[in-house]
Amino acid sequence: MSATLKKTKKSTIGRHPERGSYDRAAAHAILDEGLVAHVGFDTGDGVIVVPMTYARLGDEIVLHGAAASRWLSSFAEGRDISICVTLLDGLVLARSAFSHSMNYRSVVAFGRAVLVEDDERKGVAFHALLDHLVPGRWEDCRQPNRKEIDATTVLSMRLDEASVKVRSGPPKDAAKDMQLDYWAGVIPLALQAGSAIADPDMPDARAVPAYLASYTR
Ligand SMILES: Cc1cc2nc3c(=O)[nH]c(=O)nc-3n(C[C@H](O)[C@H](O)[C@H](O)COP(=O)(O)OP(=O)(O)OC[C@H]3O[C@@H](n4cnc5c(N)ncnc54)[C@H](O)[C@@H]3O)c2cc1C
Repeated sequence: MSATLKKTKKSTIGRHPERGSYDRAAAHAILDEGLVAHVGFDTGDGVIVVPMTYARLGDEIVLHGAAASRWLSSFAEGRDISICVTLLDGLVLARSAFSHSMNYRSVVAFGRAVLVEDDERKGVAFHALLDHLVPGRWEDCRQPNRKEIDATTVLSMRLDEASVKVRSGPPKDAAKDMQLDYWAGVIPLALQAGSAIADPDMPDARAVPAYLASYTR
């Protein structure tokens, strides 16, 4: 696995190239922290972008969905897709309306998504998808049965061509605006897990398992 991601004309960052990188470890860190991937592709009847759960398995990104899904079933022969994962770190409030921005860490990846049909690989993907959300959860729930495995489509895309972009720090107003009498700065934002809420339909009041009680984002 190369330490640097592939960079082509398509993945060359145009604006603020100083915020960009092609460092695989940086991409992995963002992908491992994120929870939602926005997946875009051409359906043949227009372009669609859908939010999806995902997981990283080494240099592979796996996605899954209902086999009955009209667009997922169209991946039988593979399809070029783009995946974007964004971590929003803050709102950047500048003196001028023009210079407002956001602090973020994002990855945009390109590749060919192919169906995973082998049962063993599907199982590995299911495990990774669940443990990406809540580490340890796979071992603490009923495993999928034959019907559920068949009802689920798994897609895999190699993480080969991708770019990373990160903005951090205070606003960057133009020099002529620096003396304006407006508050400027950053409102930090972070995704935070609350305390686990038990399903009222659980037959007995059982304690929240330790791996959930200590769950953080
Ligand atoms: C939360 C958030 C909000 C944003 N809001 C805006 C907005 O309102 N308006 C706006 O113009 N821009 C916004 N951006 C920045 C936007 O994502 C692009 O970076 C920007 O539009 C211009 O980049 P570019 O000229 O390099 O794009 P392009 O030339 O269109 O892109 C070239 C290549 O650069 C790479 N790239 C571009 N952007 C990113 C990225 N964010 N992360 C990783 N790789 C990237 C991709 O590989 C892409 O194919 C936002 C980014 C984030 C994360």
